[in-house]
Amino acid sequence: MEKMGEEFYNTALDQIAGLKAIKSELNEILKFYESTIKAQQHVKVLFKPDLSIFNKDLCSSRNSEGLPLLRAEDIEIDQDLVNKILEDIYRIIRNQRGEAVPAYFDSSSLADQQKVLIKGLVEDGIILERLACDLKIDYPVFYFLINHAFSPFISKYGEKLGEFVDTSNWLRGNCPVCGKEPLVVRLEEETGRRWLFCSLCHSEWLFKRLVCPFCENNDQESLRYFFVENEQAHRIDVCEKCKRYIKTIDCRKIDSGVNLFVENLSTLVLDIVADKEGYRGPDIFLFREK
Ligand SMILES: [Zn+2]
Ligand SMILES: [Zn+2]
Repeated sequence: MEKMGEEFYNTALDQIAGLKAIKSELNEILKFYESTIKAQQHVKVLFKPDLSIFNKDLCSSRNSEGLPLLRAEDIEIDQDLVNKILEDIYRIIRNQRGEAVPAYFDSSSLADQQKVLIKGLVEDGIILERLACDLKIDYPVFYFLINHAFSPFISKYGEKLGEFVDTSNWLRGNCPVCGKEPLVVRLEEETGRRWLFCSLCHSEWLFKRLVCPFCENNDQESLRYFFVENEQAHRIDVCEKCKRYIKTIDCRKIDSGVNLFVENLSTLVLDIVADKEGYRGPDIFLFREK
């Protein structure tokens, strides 16, 4: 499992390198994510999660009660690692989008509030909005910083906890491991089964075919999808009830084994279209104006 985690960042970096060669219009964004992923990879290798409170019984009972395996209260990350990744990502943002973050940034005061920040990421976005306002940082930038800073640690927990219980048949709209909303959907190559992907902990789980993952609406009249530029492998699924959208990557039409995080980046044009149509995405999009 440990190796799998290493593999996630390695395949992401490989695919970004390939994309840079064919999608020059995305070069700036791809370079930005490349630096971020390298910083994430660095702290993930160093992080050793304390799993002493977890066991098969606890994980199975949370899973069967419909609760995510991991709660913000359970997470303990060494302060210096949190500090390091916050500093690194802050610097990456500052280098590429200098105007977006203040010149002075106190990462240690944020590192002190790790449980509050993680709660903000998975449960209550208002927490992060308020903090961004206090720190005078644009909310999408602050969200990006916190989301990408904590992802390596939460994904490491996720890999270990996944060994206690199989979460693939969870069938709910939020992540079985960390509770976050999904980033994208993958349709399995042969069966067309619908897998949701969590960008925070990198889990994938099965979900119902004709249901909105955000509000569980299953009224077919108010669910639809559309394609952009004849790109049949990628589509936007929208729900008229909650006015949200999610991108679907159809692996029956492209090479399997794609890294879903990078596939999400390579299809940013779909987010721009969905946004213009008035639908809200699963994640806060840092490069909305591009
Ligand atoms: Zn997750
Ligand atoms: Zn909905």
